[in-house]
Amino acid sequence: MSLSLPLTDISPLQFAVTQNPSPRSDAERAEILANPGFGQFFTDHMVQIHWSERGGWHRAAVEPYAKISLDPAAAVLHYAQEIFEGLKAYRHADGSIWSFRPDQNGLRLQRSARRLALPELPLDTFLASLRSIVQADAAWVPEGGETSLYLRPFMFASEAFLGVRAARKVYYFVIASPAGAYFKGGVLPVSIWLSTDYARAAHGGTGAAKTGGNYAASLLPQQEAYAQGCDQVLFLQDGYLEELGGMNLVLVKKDGTLVTPASDSILEGITRDSLLQLAEERGHTIERRPVSVDEWREGVASGDIVEAFACGTAAVVNPIAQLKSTDFTIELPVLGEGESLAMSLRKELTDIQYGRIEDTHGWLYRL
Ligand code: PMP
Repeated sequence: MSLSLPLTDISPLQFAVTQNPSPRSDAERAEILANPGFGQFFTDHMVQIHWSERGGWHRAAVEPYAKISLDPAAAVLHYAQEIFEGLKAYRHADGSIWSFRPDQNGLRLQRSARRLALPELPLDTFLASLRSIVQADAAWVPEGGETSLYLRPFMFASEAFLGVRAARKVYYFVIASPAGAYFKGGVLPVSIWLSTDYARAAHGGTGAAKTGGNYAASLLPQQEAYAQGCDQVLFLQDGYLEELGGMNLVLVKKDGTLVTPASDSILEGITRDSLLQLAEERGHTIERRPVSVDEWREGVASGDIVEAFACGTAAVVNPIAQLKSTDFTIELPVLGEGESLAMSLRKELTDIQYGRIEDTHGWLYRL
């Protein structure tokens, strides 16, 4: 489908809009936007759509941001039947507001829904839900630097029923939260703790879905990473690299080849896919295949692997300076801005996202 159709033509559901009668004042909003941090403050509105087995998707609304009332027996609270997405709205220099490949988030939400036995939200309704909240809260999209409005669509089993089966009533929401620049004083390299005692996902499990349980499973190993003086945790499966708690992993070889784990139990990141596409267009070879920890270790020792980086929507690219585990530590060279392929790809991608260079791929979608 084309992404350029106006909202009214593509949305099968009409969103009933109720303006927040007591939004934050201009002064309060300006104070928040001056220093938003991440995920702490929320805008004046939210999107809500209901689904039932009998009625399908219905009751699409933009309404004042408010607490949700749930029955204590709501299935999500017991069996974690829940999925979510995360993407950003970017303000360009001319004031217009855009998101980056939101169709990919919509398709990933559908894949997550299938795995969690939740209903699939039609792609046009997903895109319309993003546009609806951003239009209601446009004043909340920050400008300047690498700031953005983070959009969090999510869906969960709302039916009050304690039997273990797919819920027949589901809620979908979108909330929005202004986000400051992830890196204030330049991009910082991170150190990674290799978790050998804990796994995040298993073959045939829910690793490829964006579902809360995967993140719950990553919290204890993440605490272990902090206790080891590391910033983030890297998960393995059978000795093969998977991904970080919230980012994908890419290794760069001396000959310019980019290698990234292929696995049925990792989340397919849209940032990784885009960075690899940009690299491929520059003539780099891309290998998507199983990668063992030993290959990484030996490659760094022999000088064959020259860079490693993590990537995801929040930080875009994080160079990795150190990989630590119970029985070894690998130090990776941290290359300067001019020499690092990771940083050069990061710049190209953020230049596209913020409208500083032409979007030749049709990746931007006007909200
Ligand atoms: N892996 C996991 C587990 C994540 O939570 C994320 C963030 N959504 C990613 C990878 C990166 O995905 P994306 O580039 O689409 O943000």
